[in-house]
Amino acid sequence: MNDTLRLIICTLIYGILISWSVCLLAEPATASDYTSNFKRTPAIHGIPPQAGYWHRTPTIIVCDLAPVSDVQVRSAATFWENLGYKFVSTRYKRHADKTICSQKAPTGYIIIHFVTAAVEIDPEALAQTHFFVDNQTNEIGWATIYLRTDIRETVLEHELGHALGFLHFNRINHVMNEKWAQGGWDTDGLKKQQK
Ligand SMILES: [Zn+2]
Repeated sequence: MNDTLRLIICTLIYGILISWSVCLLAEPATASDYTSNFKRTPAIHGIPPQAGYWHRTPTIIVCDLAPVSDVQVRSAATFWENLGYKFVSTRYKRHADKTICSQKAPTGYIIIHFVTAAVEIDPEALAQTHFFVDNQTNEIGWATIYLRTDIRETVLEHELGHALGFLHFNRINHVMNEKWAQGGWDTDGLKKQQK
């Protein structure tokens, strides 16, 4: 891990019955002026909170065991592209560079994995996304999405939302609602802001 970066690991769990989010501060260079907005209660009013931003354009990598089809991944990517976000490409399994799937810090990539025993994930959670943010610039370095089998509608779009820096927004029917059963296709506040 680059010592000049102050990285935050944010773990967000998308569950049906139990939903929670936990954030960890990883190896801060200095902790004196560190503040975190990750631990706040999910927003309901206003717009979905965003904790990080991609400065470069990310590439989506789907690793071998990830329980999603190429079509599902492209559909989820298109969902976000329609909101103004860009991806270099989606590289599905045999088209993906295997070394990237095993990298600890795959800078520039959004990696989609199958959840394995080594990954701590709530038993009720459908998926989990970690994204890594430079605390000084708010730039996202990389993100890793872990999926269980048989992913449901909106799950991959929701997790890609985390990979793009969004936190939970518990408005009924919103795609970033932390509870799957209360979520939906509402995209209010997710459109990319032009700077
Ligand atoms: Zn979530």
